[in-house]
Amino acid sequence: TYVITSSCIDVLDKGCMDVCPVDCIYEGERKLYIHPDECIDCGACESACPQTAIAYEDSVEPGEVHHVEDNKAFFWSV
Ligand code: SF4
Repeated sequence: TYVITSSCIDVLDKGCMDVCPVDCIYEGERKLYIHPDECIDCGACESACPQTAIAYEDSVEPGEVHHVEDNKAFFWSV
């Protein structure tokens, strides 16, 4: 799955939501989240983000890996 990292926080450009073919990007209070089970790994959102906030889970920057778990927690704690 693709993951949205910290540069989305308080920006929420939402350009990714417009390009996602399966509408699996959801809005949180301070950032957007990609549903891990719904994402089809097409990669369209990655280049659509003006903040370069989106990366494939295995390619997330070392300082941003906590967002992989944070992303799952957003969906499975609600
Ligand atoms: Fe949506 Fe594709 Fe991005 Fe997954 S990789 S969130 S399916 S645009």
